[in-house]
Amino acid sequence: MAVKKEKVAGGSDLWIRPEFAVIPSCPGCQEPVVGQLILEVVEEMGLDGEAIVVPGVGCTTFLPVIWNMDAVLTAHGRPCDVATAVKRVTKAPLVFTVQGDGDCFAIGAGPTVSAALRGENITVITMSNTNYGTTGGQMSPTTVTGQRTTTTPEGRGEMQGHPAHVPELLGGIKGVAYTARGAVNTPANLQKAKRYIKEAFQKQLDGAGFSLVEIIVACPPNWHYTPIDCLKFIDETLLAEFPLGEFKNVDRVEQPIPVPAQ
Ligand code: SF4
Repeated sequence: MAVKKEKVAGGSDLWIRPEFAVIPSCPGCQEPVVGQLILEVVEEMGLDGEAIVVPGVGCTTFLPVIWNMDAVLTAHGRPCDVATAVKRVTKAPLVFTVQGDGDCFAIGAGPTVSAALRGENITVITMSNTNYGTTGGQMSPTTVTGQRTTTTPEGRGEMQGHPAHVPELLGGIKGVAYTARGAVNTPANLQKAKRYIKEAFQKQLDGAGFSLVEIIVACPPNWHYTPIDCLKFIDETLLAEFPLGEFKNVDRVEQPIPVPAQ
């Protein structure tokens, strides 16, 4: 039976399981904001009880596991592999991953790119905080040039190469129907990010192919900024490197030509 929002006598239905009274994120973390957007979109699209989430490993894991939603947990970096199997086997209307940038673009680069190449009809929601937040703030693929992390104490530079622009990269793959990058640092950007999530989910409902939305999120303890200064860092530094917007939006992906029967 599909897990749905919990009915509460005399109150509104709950998306968050009541035994989890507190979301275990750091003060100023924007990942719960993205979680809220995802739940709003699921509800507005009438997908309560129709969705299966596949969380990655990292700070993002803590969001889906407290939702009243079916979830399949995976090993680090493997959400796209598992989401592929879940979608193919269950044929659930909406199967999506929730991953961090390390989970999705570093250890999970193979599964993510492979799912995109196959044109899997799944959606990837990845939150980019530009470091490995859970394990102490090491450099990740989206750490920007000059950014200090525990493994780049002098700032990311020549030795570490350029940051990864994943929505742009995946947009060049034939199996991909939709990619976009959003942020939640301003009310206007938050509304745009929500539209991107909705558009990506709609692509899956339409059977269009692989979709991915990257959302930039603040990580105050590992950036060593106050939550307010994090907004400035996003606006002045991260958005200069990572432009917001849609990078691919097609109604259906090109299918590989089948091998003729012998
Ligand atoms: S380490 Fe960063 S991304 Fe992880 S919960 Fe804390 S603020 Fe959020």
